Formats: sequence, C-alpha cells, structure tokens
Amino acid sequence: MRRFDGQTVVDHVSLQIAPGQVTCLLGPSGCGKSTTLRMIAGVDMQDEGTIHVDGKLVCDTVFRVPPERRSIGLMFQDFALFPHLSVGENVSFGLKGGRSEKRATVERLLDRVGLRHYIDHYPHHLSGGEQQRVALARALAPQPKIMLMDEPFSGLDNRLRDGIRDETLDLLKEEGAAVLLVTHEPEEAMRMADEIALMRDGRIVQQGAPYNIYNAPADRDAVAFFSDVN
Ligand code: ATP
Ligand code: MG
Repeated sequence: MRRFDGQTVVDHVSLQIAPGQVTCLLGPSGCGKSTTLRMIAGVDMQDEGTIHVDGKLVCDTVFRVPPERRSIGLMFQDFALFPHLSVGENVSFGLKGGRSEKRATVERLLDRVGLRHYIDHYPHHLSGGEQQRVALARALAPQPKIMLMDEPFSGLDNRLRDGIRDETLDLLKEEGAAVLLVTHEPEEAMRMADEIALMRDGRIVQQGAPYNIYNAPADRDAVAFFSDVN
C-alpha cells in the first residue's frame, strides 16, 4: 500500500509473477502502475505490505533490501543509456566478476540483440530502436530474477515496435526472468502476456489469462480497451 499526501494510490495489490512468464499490468493513467513498479524495484517504499523476490523477503515496513541487491532489471520509457559510456560499457555497468567474464556477458547479449558491432560506439550514434535493444541487454546482463518494464516501447514508431517487441519477448523467455510489463497498448498485452492484471484506482480488479480477460472483461473500461484488438 502506498499513500501520497494522505491519498491512497496503491491499495492491497497482490501480484505473483512467475519465472519465464510475462504479466501485463494495464490500467488508466494515474491508477498506480508506475508506483507499483517503483516499490518492487525499491526506489520507492510502500507504507504497508511486503515484497518477496525469489522466495526471499526484500521489503516490509521496517526492513528493506536496497534496489541494487534485489535482482531486478529495469526498463522504462525514458531508458536513458549513460551518454558518456560506450555501448559495451553501458551493458557492463555494475556487473560483478572478472574482466573477461564481464566481456563475455556483454558480447553474448549484444550479439543476441544484433548489436555487437556497436560495442565501442556511443549511444548518440544509435537509433532509438537500437538504444532500446542496448537498454534491454543492459537490464538483462546481471541475470535479474525480475524484469520491470514500464511502457518500454512507447517511444518507438509502430514499424520498429513490433520487431523489437517480439525480439524482446524471445530474449526474456530465454533468460527466464519473471516479467512485469506496463503498457497502454491492447495489442501489446495480448501478444506478450501470459497473464493480465487490470488496475483501477490503485487496486487490481481482474487478473487472469489474456484470452479470459479479453472474453469477459471486468468493467466497461476494459471492454473499451480491448475493443480494437483483432
Ligand atoms: P501513467 O499511465 O500515466 O503512467 P500510472 O498508473 O503509472 O499512470 P502513477 O505514476 O503510479 O500512475 O501515479 C499514481 C498516482 O500517484 C497519481 O495520482 C500520481 O499523481 C500520484 N503520485 C505518484 N508519485 C507521486 C509522488 N512522488 N508524490 C505525490 N503523488 C504521486
Ligand atoms: Mg506510469
């Protein structure tokens, strides 16, 4: 639960996300999606409730594991690569281990997103879509148990978005992270999700398989939301 200025913005949200699965969090602007993700990441702290990662408690109201030790990868819309670091340095940033081990991880992931040849280039040389793929490689490099993605594709044009979305999905499945994805795109949710959770005014009002939610949406907003998916 999270309050801002006496106003409850996230309330009794209970989400379980399984390894290798994508859970989409859908809901209108201001309903509390990003706040939920920030609390899981540990960059914001809940007022009540607990969070577990891989079976271990990372946070209750007195105890708190810092964000960098939660085994969580982040990919947000304003994904901002470090402009003064090369692509390779961006991906290896914060990685533990020896030089050659880190290098191998960086090369493997850049290879996987098709950008190994850019390893020594700087982010401003890359297109938006390429930067997005580097951000994905960077988020996955420490092998997070959970990937939190807050509208990661919304800055991309439609043509690019489909390709990157599919590529991202494949890579996430391979790496076996549990994914929580916030999106405003019904198509994206239907395409990527194993599970959909609908959020309204800080609460989860419906959760289940995409097909079930699409067929029996909980409220009018959900009916409208899914009406243009074909
Ligand atoms: P969007 O789809 O527009 O990104 P959202 O579902 O991600 O919306 P949140 O960013 O989680 O919404 O915000 C939920 C509510 O909490 C909003 O009313 C917002 O104004 C409020 N809020 C978020 N962060 C803060 C903060 N740091 N201080 C005060 N209020 C906040
Ligand atoms: Mg948001």
